[in-house]
Amino acid sequence: MLGGPGAGSASAAGGAPADGAPHGLRREQLEGKGTKKKLLLVPELLLLPKGPVRGQAVLVEGGKFREIGPATRLIAAHRDLQPVRLDGHLLMPGFVDAHHHLTQSFGKAQSFGQPSEMFKTIWEPLEHALDGETAYLSAKLAALEALRGGFTTISDAGTRAPVGVDVIARGTEEAGIRCVLAKIVADGSGGPEHLGRWDGHPLVHPSLAIAVAENATDKVLKKTADMCAEAGAVFQIHVNEHLASVERSLKSVGRRPVEYLHHIGALGPHTLGSHATLLTPVEMRLLADSGAAISYNPVASAWKGNAVAHATMLAAMGVRFGTGTDGTRADGFRLIDAAETAQRLAYGMHSGDNSCGAGRIWLEHATSLSADALGLGKVTGEIAVGKAADFLVVDVNVPELTPSWDLQWELVRLANRDQIRAVVVAGKLRLWEGWPTDWDGRALVERAAKVGPQVVRRAKLQRVEPLP
Ligand SMILES: [Zn+2]
Repeated sequence: MLGGPGAGSASAAGGAPADGAPHGLRREQLEGKGTKKKLLLVPELLLLPKGPVRGQAVLVEGGKFREIGPATRLIAAHRDLQPVRLDGHLLMPGFVDAHHHLTQSFGKAQSFGQPSEMFKTIWEPLEHALDGETAYLSAKLAALEALRGGFTTISDAGTRAPVGVDVIARGTEEAGIRCVLAKIVADGSGGPEHLGRWDGHPLVHPSLAIAVAENATDKVLKKTADMCAEAGAVFQIHVNEHLASVERSLKSVGRRPVEYLHHIGALGPHTLGSHATLLTPVEMRLLADSGAAISYNPVASAWKGNAVAHATMLAAMGVRFGTGTDGTRADGFRLIDAAETAQRLAYGMHSGDNSCGAGRIWLEHATSLSADALGLGKVTGEIAVGKAADFLVVDVNVPELTPSWDLQWELVRLANRDQIRAVVVAGKLRLWEGWPTDWDGRALVERAAKVGPQVVRRAKLQRVEPLP
């Protein structure tokens, strides 16, 4: 059990049973038959928007949270249901990855150590070497990795693979993860069809993308942004990531990327700019005033960046932002750890800011505020009545979190994905102890191990230094 002043008084739950399973929680207790089944969950700790609480229960029905309240009241009100007690566990919202590239999962370490604008030398050739079947496998592999890392929603920023995005949707849907699925429309065609096709889908949320502003005319950029605003979808675009791209923009259109998007009327509440690591104060103001969101991708900065987005400054200025992996490492706890660490190293240390927002800010930006950045603020990202039941069951009865003083900060700095016992999306158990419950995850891994290297060989990647 999680003890200590920060977590309130300890419950009367006992230790682990003889079989080693913490508190005897069994997978069947969380397994729904379809999304119609009701679940009355009584966790030891529940992470609500206001913070972690004890003694509360949640009722899940039809894929959504229907009731949240004192456990004694909910148990009394639903005597027909067998309460599922989650002693020693935290029930928390699943992580929301605001920026991913699902068709890059066969590359991984191929990109390590390469110069910053590696999309030209690694990712574009890799994606161009995919066909329908291998793009589907790549997306499904990425979705499985994401679920294992505690993500219940991922946003694909648009593939450059010569395939229809329906194969990506098939991969994510089969894996059981919620997906914001972008279609690249740099040539100005296909937007309305894509937005219409996925409208109302339970797990696929359509979006439009242009990889970088230089890929499209000002008219197409503006039209795409307007189309997204009208449809309530997000317009995804990489902005101000690398020095080279900022300078290309200055040379070609006389403005930095964020300034340029604002100038042509493409910066608004439905715009999601990825990275935004190299922002001037004026651009930060433009983002805040326009209501546009960005994706803060700290691991991408560490692995291939020229800078770290000044997330604590953006938060103070009221810029909306989520956190994204950019396809680097699909591990929610390590992402929030990186989010805090990158801020401290890049900014906090230089101003004596020892808390850098403390733990709470990173948890919020990785869950509810990432959902908000993706236009899914009403759909997912927090444990609240009416929101999708996208959540994690996390074992907190571990030495690393004992004694507990500030659970939110402890989750950022000390928690690990091996504590995630269950991943639930839209009320349905998708992963139990790291593996899918209703499809063969190990067979997919085996297939990817065979097919992935073939794709990489076909791609003829231009690495600066060869792999050993
Ligand atoms: Zn990206």
